Amino acid sequence: MRWRPFRRGRAATGSRTDDDAATRERRRMVAEQIEARGLRDPELIRALLTVPRHAFVGAAENAHAYEDRALGIGSGQTISQPYVVAAMTDAARPRSPAGWRGARALEIGTGSGYQAALLAELGADVVSIERHADLAAEAAERLAAAGYGPERIEVRVADGTHGAPDAGPFDAILVTAASPTVPEPLISQLSPDGGRLVIPVGERESQALTVVERRGDEVTRRRMEQVVFVPLIGEHGFAAEDAEG
Ligand code: SAM
Repeated sequence: MRWRPFRRGRAATGSRTDDDAATRERRRMVAEQIEARGLRDPELIRALLTVPRHAFVGAAENAHAYEDRALGIGSGQTISQPYVVAAMTDAARPRSPAGWRGARALEIGTGSGYQAALLAELGADVVSIERHADLAAEAAERLAAAGYGPERIEVRVADGTHGAPDAGPFDAILVTAASPTVPEPLISQLSPDGGRLVIPVGERESQALTVVERRGDEVTRRRMEQVVFVPLIGEHGFAAEDAEG
């Protein structure tokens, strides 16, 4: 089954059948991959059911958009497995009563734009940084087409290991690429009022999802499951020659 590029609203899609099929696939993805593995936050579930993941992958992977795995998105990069996206988002959720609503979120590694769309759908104001200019441009285009324009998600091209000091502090920071250590600039851009950073930390081949939380001057760390991400390449990540050579 192939879906046409998603557009919000019935008139723009031209095909109800395609959208209905995608909606059914999203429901199945959420039931079998997310809820079955214990993630049940109603806001997160609603966002996962709403964001059209198929609109963030290229034509070649369109038919596989809702499968239980990562997919290629070009430039040697990937869109993460739905469960990993959901688990990272769940771990980063601001603990204030408003949750994601009005939270400031930073994503490092825009890739396809899917994770950024999920954060915006949850109600966060998002800055997302990508080092590949072509991926950033494609993602910004897809995000706007899906209804998440620059007023909700600002996509930047830069070395994201420096974060976005002009736009912080952030309630949540998600790094969607693997780093040998937690980049110091990102810790300093966390809100001192319980800001959370979720990042895969470890070797090139395998990493532990790590949650860093800041309360005032106190910074705590907690390890979650093992994952495999593409490398975070930059001044406070892997060197390009180590990662790509
Ligand atoms: N979050 C993305 C999504 O929803 O599709 C998937 C991200 S992909 C697993 C990792 C991304 O991190 C790649 O697009 C890669 O180019 C990017 N990346 C790696 N190092 C980076 C850096 N220093 N700054 C910004 N982006 C970086």
